Amino acid sequence: MSLSTVNSERLFSDAQRLLVGGVNSPVRAFKGVGGTPLFIHKAKGARLFDVDGHRYIDYVASFGPMILGHAPRPVIRAIRKAAKAGTSYGAPTVGEVSLAAHLQQAFPSLERMRLVNSGTEATMSAIRAARGFTGRDKILKVEGGYHGHADHLLVKAGSGATTLGAPDSAGVPAEFAAHTLLVPYNDLAAVEGMIDRYSDQIAAMIIEPICGNMGLVLPQGNYLIQLAELLAAKGILLIFDEVITGFRVALGGAQSLYGIRPDLTCLGKIVGGGLPIGVYGGRADIMKRVSPEGPVYQAGTLAGNPIAVAAGLATVQELMNTNPYLALNERTKYLVDRILAAADQRRISLRMSRIASLFSFFFTEASEIANYQQVQQVNKERYAQFFHAMLEEGVYLPPSPFETCFVSTAHGDYEIDKTITAAERALDRLT
Ligand code: PLP
Repeated sequence: MSLSTVNSERLFSDAQRLLVGGVNSPVRAFKGVGGTPLFIHKAKGARLFDVDGHRYIDYVASFGPMILGHAPRPVIRAIRKAAKAGTSYGAPTVGEVSLAAHLQQAFPSLERMRLVNSGTEATMSAIRAARGFTGRDKILKVEGGYHGHADHLLVKAGSGATTLGAPDSAGVPAEFAAHTLLVPYNDLAAVEGMIDRYSDQIAAMIIEPICGNMGLVLPQGNYLIQLAELLAAKGILLIFDEVITGFRVALGGAQSLYGIRPDLTCLGKIVGGGLPIGVYGGRADIMKRVSPEGPVYQAGTLAGNPIAVAAGLATVQELMNTNPYLALNERTKYLVDRILAAADQRRISLRMSRIASLFSFFFTEASEIANYQQVQQVNKERYAQFFHAMLEEGVYLPPSPFETCFVSTAHGDYEIDKTITAAERALDRLT
């Protein structure tokens, strides 16, 4: 059996003549799983509808933002109302102050913040602020951590060992990448080693507290708390990239789960309710270095865009009013437990990581997945087979073994049970 995707195929061939690789963001091209990307024409609740008349239960959620499902009524209402009042002014608005107040309520560490247009802008600007504040140039990052596509952040692994960064992308001068120091996730000794060598040159460490861009990889034991202490002792700023985890693992993100107050925090995805947004902020003394109060320049024509702010505010208010996190957690746990049991019955080596409404599949015999090096050992071909089998069963998973799955409040018992049945059938078909 295979899906008929003639319309997607035709559109993809047109798209490839106009858009680089036929897409506007690389993972959408299905290179990680093979085949033709599905063109989506509509989404509602937990479902995506493609141009060939198929519907899918969606676990991509636009790579994270759609925690309330697609086109949730309060958000669409807020977008309509905002659009009628004009789409952009280049002047302050009531909405952006209200959104900032809500964000600060959930994230008390955001003493001062700035709204930008994407997660990439947020992390790039947070690092500039950290460098401007400390007067130091180097930054520490985790191998396999993704923080958007700013030059100095497109650096992943050397030979697996801790090493000075080499650029991961053409077009990034080696001199830029050389300011980026890499450490494996969940490895405090590696951080200590870097601090011993470079401590008075390191401005900040940027980290996804829960890694969501090498599949989902969780912090072990007291890693985050000890990391925060280690950095603070050396005057190295801690930047939590909560672009995925903010309002996802809890209202106050990973920092509220683990009881850590980072110096700076980056948000995006959910706080824009499906429209483009990013936020960076944190300690007032650091953020006061940002223009117009200080000498660190950062600006944006569409920053704080009234429609994105209205969508973000409606989403955040809905989450604060309904606090769906316990229910999301239980539903996701049930789903993951049942899929794991199905794999076990079939003697298929599958590990799944999970926290709150995030989960991912690792087809591997390894007994733990704690860092990028271990993640790279997974059976990518098996994921690709599983992905396509799930599509045929009506379930849309991320088109790469190294992305995370997202459950929304629109995934009810019906959708979860259908997904379990789909997974059982898809696992039956794995060779
Ligand atoms: N930080 C994290 C943790 C992300 O997952 C992403 C995007 O996936 C970004 C930053 C970059 O955000 P954007 O794609 O909005 O530029």
